[in-house]
Amino acid sequence: MDYIQGKPRSQIVLIESSMEEKIEQDNPVRLIDKFVDSCKLEELGFTHAKHAPEGRPPYHPGDLLKLYIYGYLNRIRTTRLLEKECKRNLELMWLLKELTPDHNTIANFRKANPKAIKLVFRRMVTMCKRLDLIGGKVIAIDGTKLRAQNSKKNNYNQRKIDDHLAYIESRLHEYLDALDIADAAENMGLDPEIDKKKIQEKIARLNDKKQQYKKLEQELIKTGQEQISTTDPESRKMPIRQNILEMSYNIQTSVDDKHCLPIDFKTTNNNDTHAMGNMTARAKSIIGHNEFTTLLDKGYHTGSEINQCHEMGVETMVAIPALSTQAVDPAYNVDQFIYHEETDTYQCPQGNILYTNGSLYDKGGDHRVKQYKTKACKHCPARAHCTKAKNGRIIERSEFAEAILRNKLAIEQNKELYKRRQEIVEHPFGTIKRQWGFDYTLMKGKQKVDGDVGLIFIAYLFTRLMNILGMKGLMEAISSLISLLITQKLTLKHLIIEFQRSQRIFSEINPLYRYLIICP
Ligand code: SF4
Repeated sequence: MDYIQGKPRSQIVLIESSMEEKIEQDNPVRLIDKFVDSCKLEELGFTHAKHAPEGRPPYHPGDLLKLYIYGYLNRIRTTRLLEKECKRNLELMWLLKELTPDHNTIANFRKANPKAIKLVFRRMVTMCKRLDLIGGKVIAIDGTKLRAQNSKKNNYNQRKIDDHLAYIESRLHEYLDALDIADAAENMGLDPEIDKKKIQEKIARLNDKKQQYKKLEQELIKTGQEQISTTDPESRKMPIRQNILEMSYNIQTSVDDKHCLPIDFKTTNNNDTHAMGNMTARAKSIIGHNEFTTLLDKGYHTGSEINQCHEMGVETMVAIPALSTQAVDPAYNVDQFIYHEETDTYQCPQGNILYTNGSLYDKGGDHRVKQYKTKACKHCPARAHCTKAKNGRIIERSEFAEAILRNKLAIEQNKELYKRRQEIVEHPFGTIKRQWGFDYTLMKGKQKVDGDVGLIFIAYLFTRLMNILGMKGLMEAISSLISLLITQKLTLKHLIIEFQRSQRIFSEINPLYRYLIICP
């Protein structure tokens, strides 16, 4: 039976084609090339964008950026694999003009440029804005966990340290007792039956470990943190789903609903509780107005954060978590008490009025509450259903109750819109984590992880833009961006106004670039 045959390996090629001819015109690698060439890398803050005339010249940051974008688009993230691909992958040979940087050079670039990489992502968002791909009406904000480069074994909290110290103490006691018995046997002229030297070595090792745990304990006290990680000190143990805890970073992301395009991300090592205000402020700055609604899950439901968003003029829809304190009988839960705004009182299900003395009591630093009570509790026939408290029922009202109520009404009146939250925000997360398998970070430390995440989101935007606009449309969009950057004249007045406007939020960003990414 005949089979399709390949070319003989020793065959000499008479007409050699150029690298350019081997790469099709609609190959996405051409997009990466054009896009990176359109970025003013020096302005974005890439290191080695300028170099000293003496010594061996470094690789151009544009070439290394092209390599990374190509790698992340093709699920190649490790520097050793990227190094290999440069030598055997025809597309990369074309893209890098046959440059073959080694893995150290490649790794150093990603480590050294997390901020600049983020600015490249922002440039892509600007391009999306100019192409009218960002609706700017509904923004879904959510956090996703990426596993960190730190094992759970190398993460400690006070309880774990206490357990280790208690274990060491018990072992030390056992060894010291064994040494005492051996000494007594020797004094009586008997064989001690144990190797005293080995036991002393074990005691020394345990004492070393004890010192290490004591150091960790001091570190915990000094920093006021609840946990400490030894391989990547900034990673934290967090729930990744239900009760499963993993060493992770929490990547806060804002996604616009028009085409499910991410417009912002931020690497954090906290949970979602206090992330809403900051992410909304950033979204407002990126979009350029406050006429949008944010959709968030119940993990973000914090009165002070909702209030902060309302003060910015942004409408919120944050899911309402289940009541944290339940009455003995659900018919007497706090939501069954009616608030009377005119008199600042509550009416309980038995019809009695609860009053406040007007004082605000601090609740853990982020909000204060007023307390409402009534003397009627003393002789109330329903008391056993309502409360177990000795002094009767106390209702607490947050100082942000109005904002919380406004959010509740917004959710109730826009149920269909709120239902879209998951499909908007899960679009990028599903692709990145499930389809691409990027559910972990390769870097250590918040800032460097931000660079890693930046490359992931750049690759994601490229993929989405190619799907939405097609290869030709995206190529044209990049060309228009280039001509815009060439022709745009920035006046000193523009720069000063823009610098003052956005300094509060993006103080670390070059004002010239900030103008380019924010202006409509
Ligand atoms: S216990 Fe107090 S608050 Fe509860 S129903 Fe009776 S009077 Fe009202």
